[in-house]
Order: sequence, then structure tokens, then C-alpha cells
Amino acid sequence: MQDLRSMTEAELKTAAQELGQPAYRGAQLFDWLQNKKIRSLDEALNLPKAFREALRQHYALSTLTLHTLQVSRDGTRKYLFELPDGQAIESVFMPYDYGCTVCVSSQVGCRMGCRFCASTLNGLSRNLLPGEMLEQVFRIEEETGKRVDHIVVMGMGEPLDNPDNLIRFIRLISDPKGKNLSQRNITVSTCGLVPQIRALAEEKLGITLALSLHAPDDELRRTMMPIANRYTIAETLAACDEYFEKTGRRMSYEYSLVRGSNDSEAHALALAKLLKGRNCHVNLIPVNPVTERGFEASQEAAVALFQKTLEKNGINATIRKKMGADIDGACGQLRRRLMEQHASICGKN
Ligand code: SAH
Repeated sequence: MQDLRSMTEAELKTAAQELGQPAYRGAQLFDWLQNKKIRSLDEALNLPKAFREALRQHYALSTLTLHTLQVSRDGTRKYLFELPDGQAIESVFMPYDYGCTVCVSSQVGCRMGCRFCASTLNGLSRNLLPGEMLEQVFRIEEETGKRVDHIVVMGMGEPLDNPDNLIRFIRLISDPKGKNLSQRNITVSTCGLVPQIRALAEEKLGITLALSLHAPDDELRRTMMPIANRYTIAETLAACDEYFEKTGRRMSYEYSLVRGSNDSEAHALALAKLLKGRNCHVNLIPVNPVTERGFEASQEAAVALFQKTLEKNGINATIRKKMGADIDGACGQLRRRLMEQHASICGKN
């Protein structure tokens, strides 16, 4: 059954008419779903009971239920949400100076297999619906009582492995009749699915694209990210250049620093050479150690030198502020602990 929260106002108007209602009932329903954030059709009080009943018979309604909340000393809040089918996903709330940000998951699990990432350890379970991405933001606004005005799609999953639902989510959350969040305040991070980057450029969205680069050469990148076996860095950067040309949005490159692996001055110089002449920004992320992975974060001095070397060579770089380190910071770690608990309760461990 189609999910009501994943539908546009125009689609809901048509759906209303198909159920024998005037079109404006669909517009009212859109307002209930996107602005009043109802969890059940019973809350849509100005809709006729018969219409609500008919909707229930023909459609589903995505809702998330809070399972666990961890609050960090720095104000970061990490949520484990349960989906209607019993699956679990993580979302993070970060109260930055410039506004509240939510880190949204786009899939349950991930099939990209990056070596340092916890979200991919059990593979992909399923894609999230647009309504399930919206719900992460809505439930967090409800729980914190704060207005979220920035979104980073950097939670569990590879957003460009679920492109149709991702694009629909972006259009819905930026709909002037819905939450009306500026597309300029949305960042989508990808490990580098080249055809999907090119297709995204055609959508002409106002969002920022971030590419997880993590290494200045193909050989090293292949040891960290399986996707590097499919696309070379040269092909990937060409797609990113096209994204910039078509959208006018400056690219962001993410570089997770792993101690003794990709964090030397020579790596920084190679990275600066690689990105030279591009209007871009580099985000340095000291790797968040995941128990199962055995990677160690770079030392502070190495991170500082890396940044300085990039800046000296004309590449804009910032070190990502470490937030929520005391609360299972790395994506997918909270969910993994839940899965382990389930397994031990069921006697599988
Ligand atoms: N699938 C998307 C989003 C992943 S999460 C992507 O690959 O870009 C956002 C960023 O965090 C990515 O750059 C990802 O490579 C990085 N990341 C994942 N696990 C990490 C860890 N343990 N420490 C540091 N960065 C990590």
C-alpha cells in the first residue's frame, strides 16, 4: 500500500477525488501530514470519518516510534527509532550555533561495505520511504520542541542507492506548503555512485552534495571503500564537477582521517593536488572508532597539520567538530547494540 506521508499535495488531491471526495480534502490531509505531523488519521479532525476510513483501507501511514534516546553532554541527542515493520534506524539532533541540525538515515543498513563504517556491518535490510525520512525530522522536532532548519543525510545508508525516495523527501520537506525548509540547508553525502551523481545533477536541486573521498589515490581508496573498485577517483571527480556546473552548488569533500593510513602530510599534499583549481570545501573527520573495525583516529597534531597543509595549498578545509562522542557517536553503533541485545535475548549469541 502506498504511504500517505510520501505523497505530494497534488497526489493527495487526486487520491481524495478517487475516493469520491472534493480535491480540497487532499490539501487538508497534506497539511495534517506535513505541518501538524499527525501519527494517526484519527487526529485529522476536519476530515469526514468516511474519508478517513476509506484512506485507511487503501493507504498506509508511515510513523516512527522512539525506542531509545541518548543525550550527550554537548547537547547532541541520538535517537533509535522503530519502524512499523519492527526495523530500527538512527537519527541525530545537533544544536549548532547557526541552527538545529538533524542527521537523517536513508536506508535500514547499507550495502556499500565501507571498512570503517558500522552501518554496513549487516548489509542492507531495506530502503526508507520519503515519509520515514520526514518522520525522523518531525519526531525530533516534537521531542525537543525545537525547529529544525538544517538537514544532513549522513545517517545510516547510502542516499544515492535510494535516489527516488531521497529526491521525493527533499521536495516534500522543502515544499512551501509543507515544512518549507530551504534546500540550501540540506546536505546529501554519497560514497560516490557516479551515474546517480550525474542523474542528481539533472534534478537541479539547491542542495549541497558531499562526496566521501577519504583517500587521494585509487589504490588506498580501494582498501577503505569497495565502491572505489567500481569507479576511479578521476571518474568520480568528473561527475562532481558536472554536479557543480549544472547546479552552481559548491561540492564538499569528506575525508575521514585514519591513524597511520591516510593522515600523513604527503597524503594532504596529494589531496591538495587532486582538488586543485576546484571551488570546493574539504571536511576532515577524525575517524570514529568502531569496535568491530579496528581503525584508530588520527592524533590531534596530525589532524591539525593535515588541515594546515591543505589550506597552505589553497584548499578550504575544516575539521568536523566532534559531537556526541560519549553517546555511540558513529552511525549504526546504537542499532548494532540493539541487534546484539535482541540476539542474546533470542539465544542466538
Ligand atoms: N553513505 C553516505 C553517508 C555516510 S555517513 C556516504 O558514504 O557518504 C557520512 C560520512 O561519515 C561519510 O563520509 C562516511 O564515510 C563517514 N563515516 C562513516 N563511518 C565513519 C566512522 N566510523 N568514522 C568517521 N567517519 C565515518
